[in-house]
Amino acid sequence: MIRAEGPVLAHNYHPLPVVVARAEGVWVEDVEGRRYLDMLAGYSALNFGHRHPALIDAAHRQLDQLTLTSRAFHNDRLAGFAEALAELTGLDMVLPMNTGAEAVESGIKVARKWAYDVKGVPADRATIVVADGNFHGRTTTIVGFSDDATARTGFGPYAPGFRTVPYNDLAALEAAVDDTTAAVLIEPIQGEAGVIIPDEGYLTGVRELTRRTGCLFIADEIQSGLGRTGTTLAVEHESVLPDVLLLGKALGGGIVPVSAVVARRDVLGVLGPGQHGSTFGGNPLAAAVGSAVIDLLATGEFQRRAADLGAQLRTGLAALTGKGVTGFRARGLWAGVDIDPALGTGREISERLLAEGILVKDTHGSTIRLAPPLTITEEELASALAGLGRVLG
Ligand code: PLP
Repeated sequence: MIRAEGPVLAHNYHPLPVVVARAEGVWVEDVEGRRYLDMLAGYSALNFGHRHPALIDAAHRQLDQLTLTSRAFHNDRLAGFAEALAELTGLDMVLPMNTGAEAVESGIKVARKWAYDVKGVPADRATIVVADGNFHGRTTTIVGFSDDATARTGFGPYAPGFRTVPYNDLAALEAAVDDTTAAVLIEPIQGEAGVIIPDEGYLTGVRELTRRTGCLFIADEIQSGLGRTGTTLAVEHESVLPDVLLLGKALGGGIVPVSAVVARRDVLGVLGPGQHGSTFGGNPLAAAVGSAVIDLLATGEFQRRAADLGAQLRTGLAALTGKGVTGFRARGLWAGVDIDPALGTGREISERLLAEGILVKDTHGSTIRLAPPLTITEEELASALAGLGRVLG
């Protein structure tokens, strides 16, 4: 039974009617002991599944030692975490934060400071170019450059300094970039928009354009990164290295909020003491779990699983196309699936899947997103696809 949350919790979510009490791997269990296959994985925060033993072990060991120092003092876990993250991404320096939106805000601050200190943009004139359909989080600055009316309306006045161009359109991007541009901020694949994958060559084009025009390329890999698409980073599909990477979600192993801005030294090096900070950013518990996440990714196993099982996911979705699925976009273990609106809204399909023991969430309209833990087996994925087939049939 669902305890009425209405009177005391802000109504900023509309959860599916399931109350989860326990979870392990790809399975969650509700308060009545009913099991569900988790095909959302905490919006990709649970890439390694619920309670991965190596991550739980790292958290337990750290809980017994030290949990928080603040950055007023050093802690013995943070430097190792930063070194490992820099090595994993091929960049030089790390700014540890907590949530995804904080990483985005921090990336914006760093880009503006870089524009003034290094590029020579006149004070307070820096601009950042973003894309239509973006989702970068929920803070006042970030919703100000969202084009999602629900996310944006009612929260103005909005911060100036952003220009929006159509996603996947290099000519529009080129037209928007000028001497004031500090950075181009995009998602290599737009997750919340419905797993929108740009054309081959777009990320290479963004890299080339930002280099040529002397502005930074900031890739928000908070949802696309850390194994989800079959590579550590989604930008690797075009062998592109941005100047600034934003990471979050799976970096905390589904245990603690951990995010980071990762960048070259000549970019992140613009920050000096007192110019940015966070009480919890870089705390030893986060660093210990984040280090264990990087150890898992360093094996390459999760990226391989996402790539291999991603082929199965695409084949399964192709088989459902024309049978309730009107189209889909997929890379690795990540898919946006458009359902025939005649069969119901994304919400209604999600509710029917819930009744089948499968947890998913709609994105927009009749589109649902599939993003299981990368630990899912072939059989479990096949059963999720069969469940989707039953719901649509
Ligand atoms: N950026 C992207 C691409 C995201 O998908 C999200 C969350 O869905 C965020 C930023 C915001 O992350 P958080 O909810 O941790 O603030």
